[in-house]
Amino acid sequence: MFNLFKTKNKETDIPIHLYNTLGRKKELFKPIKQGKISFYQCGPTVYWTQHLGNMRAMVMADLIDRTFKYFGYDVDFVRNYTDVGHLTSDRDSGEDKIEKASAREHSSPKEISDKYIKIFQNDLKELNTLSPSFTPRATEYINEIISMVQILLDKGFAYSTDLAIYFDVSKAKDYTKLSGQNLEENISGAGSGDVEDPHKKHPADFSVWFFKAGKHKDALQYWPSPFTSPLVKDGEGFPGWHIECSAMIRKILGKTIDIHMGGIEHIPVHHTNEIAQSEAVNGVPLADYWVHNEWLVFNNEKMSKSEGISLTLDDVVKKGFNPLALRFFFMQAHYRSKQNFTWEALEAAQIGYVNLIHKISELGNKIGTVDEDFKKQFSEKIAEDFNSPQALAVLFEMLKADLTNENKLATAFDFDKVLGLKFQEEWKKLEPVLNNMKMDSEVIKLRDEREEARKNKDWEKSDELRNKINNLGYEIKDTQNGPEIRRKQ
Ligand code: AMP
Ligand code: ZN
Repeated sequence: MFNLFKTKNKETDIPIHLYNTLGRKKELFKPIKQGKISFYQCGPTVYWTQHLGNMRAMVMADLIDRTFKYFGYDVDFVRNYTDVGHLTSDRDSGEDKIEKASAREHSSPKEISDKYIKIFQNDLKELNTLSPSFTPRATEYINEIISMVQILLDKGFAYSTDLAIYFDVSKAKDYTKLSGQNLEENISGAGSGDVEDPHKKHPADFSVWFFKAGKHKDALQYWPSPFTSPLVKDGEGFPGWHIECSAMIRKILGKTIDIHMGGIEHIPVHHTNEIAQSEAVNGVPLADYWVHNEWLVFNNEKMSKSEGISLTLDDVVKKGFNPLALRFFFMQAHYRSKQNFTWEALEAAQIGYVNLIHKISELGNKIGTVDEDFKKQFSEKIAEDFNSPQALAVLFEMLKADLTNENKLATAFDFDKVLGLKFQEEWKKLEPVLNNMKMDSEVIKLRDEREEARKNKDWEKSDELRNKINNLGYEIKDTQNGPEIRRKQ
């Protein structure tokens, strides 16, 4: 018989296909270690409240995490916090985002990171995402970053100027393999070319270490290093953004990981650079599969701080929306499609979500067994490049199908391991209300008579009425808010 959970940590019978940006096609997933996945997602730069676009990216990573877990894999999921070195342009120009926020809020960089990490974690909890296995902060991996920079220098992949240490892209093997662009396109793609350091050899060379000099002379977060510049003492400086991910991956997950994920904007710069420096140091591929999520757009523009459109979860909740309705909205679009955010679309998703919970609540309170045919259909959809809209369609079909209510309930709860829409918790909350609605009039009459008897302290009659209620298949509990009646389990 078909069984997905034959043995714990054994791989599934259903093949998983995912779209690999490296190679630009769907591929059959094969893990490095049987039954295990190493999965890294570039996490947020924690200088502001993350917007709904960021939330979409995180919910999509959660979908992938949950899918592998559903199929019995052990997932090592790492999502970092960038708390230093990410400049206002991904191309090494501008100010450090965290320091800019420090000045704005008159707080230390650490206070800024702590504050926004906390908000981010709370928001993700509301969206019912599972916690990653590790959430490293870049500032806690400075030693690993320095070791990597040293190896790059020793192997001749990097060079120093008075202002920074750069990765020399001409030395990388197939530097543009991820983007598939030629180098010139790759550079102009991110609106750069602004060489702020006259000794930088090529505009695409990127910084792996900034010295605390030049425009960064007043940096608030800096560390001593073995590197030298005549402008600083003890090699003081801070890491470039790209090397942080490379170092955290190497330290926590190893030289080659199964899956690396991030937004599509990271293809030509950030991920291209991660690959170049990690592969230069390690001599092996950084990741076997590169997964990129599309954007949440608002009026056809990427939702982002710099575009000035950045709604947060708090904005959504203040308008009366349930965070899970937002999660349901995200599940309605495939992670590789753009998704257009409008308040009307969110409203429709909220109505859809509430209807769904009602439908599930009306299935009663007995949980039967998972329907294997529908489980297979659902699994095939979700295993086909994490197709959440089609997986949702299977759920709706299953709810309409000719199955017992008990088995529908069990099957919906099983699917929810992937969807994360809290069917069971919400169902539990609604259950007493719905039970009361469906109670037959006789039970209600007996309940009221018993209340009357209790008021008159006629305990004998009250017990007799309780027995009658029990015999009809209900239990009665006296609470502070009066008697509560439930169907017997
Ligand atoms: P950032 O803090 O800008 O580096 O973004 C953190 C993560 O959110 C990255 O993986 C981005 O790709 C992702 N992200 C940012 N904006 C959007 C958006 N509008 N839609 C989807 N993902 C986004
Ligand atoms: Zn990264």
